[in-house]
Amino acid sequence: MPAVSLDNVTKIYGRDTVALEDISFEIPEGEFVVLLGPSGAGKSTMLRVLNGLTQPTEGEVIINEKPVGGERSEVGMVFQMHYLIESMSAFRNALTGALSRSNFAQSALTMYPDEDKRAALEALETVGLLDEAGQRAGSMSGGQKQRVGIARALVQDPDLLLADEPVSSLDPKAAKDVMRYMKEAAKERNLTTVASLHQVNIAREFGDRFLGVRDGELIFDGDREDLTMDV
Ligand code: ADP
Ligand code: ADP
Repeated sequence: MPAVSLDNVTKIYGRDTVALEDISFEIPEGEFVVLLGPSGAGKSTMLRVLNGLTQPTEGEVIINEKPVGGERSEVGMVFQMHYLIESMSAFRNALTGALSRSNFAQSALTMYPDEDKRAALEALETVGLLDEAGQRAGSMSGGQKQRVGIARALVQDPDLLLADEPVSSLDPKAAKDVMRYMKEAAKERNLTTVASLHQVNIAREFGDRFLGVRDGELIFDGDREDLTMDV
């Protein structure tokens, strides 16, 4: 059974903006997929369809045998803008990932169960920030913030990890660093991952498989050997 399956998915905004056109693919569990394409190609729409924030106009999205859009907690998200709470520590930020899997009322009173705290520390360890757990997110570097964002997604214990341009705002060295931790985290947990990137050199280094979109169409689906610079 594939972890992710898109079956003839089309997304049309308004009357005639075709953001995705008849897209089908399957992703086996644990695969690290990079989504490539120029601005406006449909990458963000693809990720929103995968996390259930956008309903496809036609077609179906299945994640671990369940139609997407029911339980939100099954999909973890890493954003270009990290959306951390800057005044809180890396630990508290990572812990907020547990909100989607814990009893919300309980968590709102900041009474996180020990199990969630353990998960937050484990996730910070995975992204190499255990020693920085107590540091205020606002005082961290861009790359460290993205790694806290990854930790927060891991705390959700998702079936699928999605990352929307996670390293676009970073310099090349920090970008590679963040991708290395994301890849390592995914491998360690056998976590199926889809990350959109626009830097082909970084994509090439970390992807197991590459999906290329342009004008809403899937124009490429292949591995590193097949990848050309103009996808
Ligand atoms: P990318 O992430 O690759 O830049 P998007 O998925 O954001 O591409 O956009 C694909 C196309 O859909 C673009 O033409 C964009 O203008 C359009 N689009 C994206 N979101 C919306 C929206 N909420 N409403 C209308 N059109 C949208
Ligand atoms: P991205 O390419 O990273 O999605 P955009 O600037 O294209 O960034 O889009 C930012 C936001 O605006 C997104 O939420 C998207 O859905 C929305 N959007 C993009 N294009 C359009 C559009 N043509 N009409 C309405 N909303 C849009």
